[in-house]
Amino acid sequence: MSDYILETKNLTKEFRGFVAVSDVNLQVKRGNIHALIGPNGAGKTTCFNLLTKFLTPTSGRIFFSGHEITHEKPAQIARRGIIRSFQISAVFPQLTVLENVRIGLQRATGQSYHFWRSDSVLKHLNDSAYEILKEVDLADFAQEQTVNLPYGRKRALEIATTLAMEPELMLLDEPTQGMGHEDVSRVTQLIKKVSVGRTILMVEHNMNVVAEIADTITVLARGAVLAEGNYQEVSRNADVMEAYMGT
Ligand code: ADP
Repeated sequence: MSDYILETKNLTKEFRGFVAVSDVNLQVKRGNIHALIGPNGAGKTTCFNLLTKFLTPTSGRIFFSGHEITHEKPAQIARRGIIRSFQISAVFPQLTVLENVRIGLQRATGQSYHFWRSDSVLKHLNDSAYEILKEVDLADFAQEQTVNLPYGRKRALEIATTLAMEPELMLLDEPTQGMGHEDVSRVTQLIKKVSVGRTILMVEHNMNVVAEIADTITVLARGAVLAEGNYQEVSRNADVMEAYMGT
């Protein structure tokens, strides 16, 4: 088995002649926390959209666990275990926290609605959802209406619903964005915890978070890879500093 769970080869995306992602060769090591960083407009979101097939590359190839997935559809990619955490707007605010995770579990099985009407199946799902909530320290909030959760806990719920989809590779889009110090450190530790036995690729702006948990960092600027390495390596890189200062 390859060391790399995800690889891109010359991944490129143009929007009407504007090159948003340019010849990106990404190698994400199995079991790592890999951070994608870069100034605004660097192409991070476009990369995520290409990896989950929300966008089709203009050219280049994508491999997951050695299989080429360049031409697969989003649902096929999710079935392979590449799961992107969606912003909290994707969960149902009026449902309880537990119900939102249960929906994630139901989606993961792909069974029809009628299957879920059996009490025993529902109990099993509720138990599994509760286990996931325990993993992300949200068990105390299980019966809360999601709309009432504090912001930091909502972001933890995003991670929980992602876990329900049985990810091998989790794509986290700015998981600590907009959080106060306490929530940032809680979510940082949570990411570290859920990374055990999984691989995480995340877009993250908070350099303290990146320094603390990322094994590898890829720095994008103007759509291209500017630098790659661990935190010490990229933070000493003069090109990286200039790319950040220039914005
Ligand atoms: P980042 O996430 O690093 O801030 P993005 O991937 O959102 O960067 O954007 C990279 C560049 O591509 C930006 O200049 C942005 O304006 C451009 N871009 C992104 N999506 C589109 C689109 N659908 N059409 C045209 N240009 C786009």
